[in-house]
Amino acid sequence: MTLVRSGSRTTTPLSQVDVQFNRVSNALDIQKHIRPDRDRKSHHTPRGGRSSICQATALLTPQTNVQAGKRRKDQMRKEAAMMIACLVFIGAGVRSLRPALKVTRRFSSVVVTSNTAQGGDQRGVKDPLYFFYNDIFHVKMPEGHRFPMEKYAAFRRQAQQRLFSLPGVGFHPSPLSTVRDLETTHDRSYIQRYLVGNVTAQEKRESGFDWNEQHVNRTLSSVGGTVAATHAVLQSDLPVGAHLAGGTHHAFQARMEGFCIFSDIAVAANVALRDYPDKVRKILIVDLDTHQGNGNAVLFQDDSRVFTFSMHCDANYFSEKQASDLDVEVKPGTGDAGYLSLLERYLPLVFEAQAPDLVFFQAGVDIHASDRLGKLALTRAGLQRRNLRLFQFVEAYGSKLVVTAGGGYPSDSDPSSGPYADIINAHADVYVGAAEFFGGGSKMVPLLR
Ligand SMILES: [Zn+2]
Repeated sequence: MTLVRSGSRTTTPLSQVDVQFNRVSNALDIQKHIRPDRDRKSHHTPRGGRSSICQATALLTPQTNVQAGKRRKDQMRKEAAMMIACLVFIGAGVRSLRPALKVTRRFSSVVVTSNTAQGGDQRGVKDPLYFFYNDIFHVKMPEGHRFPMEKYAAFRRQAQQRLFSLPGVGFHPSPLSTVRDLETTHDRSYIQRYLVGNVTAQEKRESGFDWNEQHVNRTLSSVGGTVAATHAVLQSDLPVGAHLAGGTHHAFQARMEGFCIFSDIAVAANVALRDYPDKVRKILIVDLDTHQGNGNAVLFQDDSRVFTFSMHCDANYFSEKQASDLDVEVKPGTGDAGYLSLLERYLPLVFEAQAPDLVFFQAGVDIHASDRLGKLALTRAGLQRRNLRLFQFVEAYGSKLVVTAGGGYPSDSDPSSGPYADIINAHADVYVGAAEFFGGGSKMVPLLR
């Protein structure tokens, strides 16, 4: 892998740096978009002659051992040190070295004080995790409709079964979002129009959904479950909460698109900032769906408290491409190795950039090879590795985590087919993996290695 930095801007703020990374492999072509209007994007600069440091850092970042908590912490600490060296070069930490050093101390304190157990309930989690599900708000879809409504109950059932043996996870029906919460993010008139069914033909076309009261309840629960999971983690010592739905990242302030009416993550983020100002100052959205988190990118474009990171297929835009705080584009056909190497490179940078109090994970599984829309080619094991790496960073930074489902569209809609099972398994793995990693779940069904 070769990193080539275009230009020689040795003292320019990152807001003005156009950084191009080119891989030798033609499977990937990454473009990094940095929005130009944020103070926090200023940074210490790339310095001439240090590219080899960054390159070496990217190449040397080793795999972490899943089983050994202590070794993992040590590993994360090493990665942080290497990451900081890298940041000196490319400035992708977005801010200055000072917060980077602060993070080093935070790592130290995690190592000293954390209950570095092997996983499971030894991590010190006593209370059940809160996992919300909204498949009780089932909508009868027209025959042949491309939205896989049935999948939500299917992967919820699988997750419940796999997590059955320990009382570490409580499954709760998603509550309906309140208008007050929706108004943190969306236009009042847009909310009102949707609630009463004043939806245009164009809106129905762009959202892919018809309108009826079943849809309204499901839409409100898609937001409400994510908000509830957010309250659950912020009102407790629990490290993670989850919604077995949501991830509706194509909704804008007053516009619906791609099966998304309101943005559950954006509403939950704004609710967190509104209701927990002492606990939540910095939020990171990690969007690993195959589609860009275009709605969230726009919704938070002027809010430096929320950093949007979207890693998605470059041939999979619903509409005009938007600028997240960091966009990483992945070429169609990319498999586990290529995808995970990109994640290994950028995940440290976004955590370093934001040092988040709260992380939202849009855990779309439409990057799986069996997805009809995704155009990528990851395996189940690759997806599990993706999830695990995020969990490890969340733990290392001491952040709270809220997990949402995102996309997943089986290439064969027959529930008995292999592709259908692949998508259901991949969705369920996200939640089982989170429960196992953070200590709420069963050890009966281990993650694939
Ligand atoms: Zn998607």
